[in-house]
Amino acid sequence: MKIVLFDIDGTLIKAGGAGLRGLNLAVKDMCGVDDICSKFPLQGATDKENFRTAHIRASGRKPTARQVREMERRYVKYLPKEVEKSVRSKNYFKMKGVEKLLNALSKRKDVMIGLGTGNLKEGAFIKLKPSGFMKYFAFGGYGCDSRIRSRVLMKAVGRARKLLKIGISPGDVYVIGDTHKDIEAAKDAGYHSAAVTGGFGDAGLLQRSGPELLAKDFSDLAPWFVWLGLVKDPKGITRGTYICPDSPIEHAHYGRTGLNRGQRPISPISDTKLRK
Ligand SMILES: [Mg+2]
Repeated sequence: MKIVLFDIDGTLIKAGGAGLRGLNLAVKDMCGVDDICSKFPLQGATDKENFRTAHIRASGRKPTARQVREMERRYVKYLPKEVEKSVRSKNYFKMKGVEKLLNALSKRKDVMIGLGTGNLKEGAFIKLKPSGFMKYFAFGGYGCDSRIRSRVLMKAVGRARKLLKIGISPGDVYVIGDTHKDIEAAKDAGYHSAAVTGGFGDAGLLQRSGPELLAKDFSDLAPWFVWLGLVKDPKGITRGTYICPDSPIEHAHYGRTGLNRGQRPISPISDTKLRK
């Protein structure tokens, strides 16, 4: 059984800054400071981490546990309206091709898909609601589970294990995100990692974090299916089949991509091949 964990912001959807506006309003209520989110980068960090940073930036002090709960409560209260605003102003997007991928994976008996997100659970559901994607996810790890992203992912896998009542080894887990923090968290947990460059991640940091697959989006599903080990590499080499490459450079290349694709991008597989 393969477990595939999806990040939300920049991977499944773009919510047009709804989360940022929601947090700005919560901080304004509590600390009287406007537009706090313009003062630090939020991308890829868990909500808990962002709320803590926002509080420190706005008040100069670490928040108490009670203040964190209060900020979460206010954020979740403001979020639905902000998501609605994004939808109305046509700034809410589903990522290109991701619905096709979710649909295809949800039909497979050998794959289970879940969320691996920094969003609070309630926030995740509010953000995903307009996309209709919630029906695909039976479980997840959320920003309320931990401030540390790798622990969020491990929590998701623990929940999958409970649901399936089978053992899941780290090599069975595939994490898809859009920032280097998704990749670093996946690696910390010993999971496979891939990223889309069309989200919110910094291109240079993403590249350096070394995901096994880096693609603009999901418009071509072929490389995603190869990466997930659900179809064979068009050139006949699948992950882990190479033994003792000749040079460290080859090792770095194959180890990172799992694919024998030389200098060229992965050649697309036809739909017919994908269906087999
Ligand atoms: Mg993201």
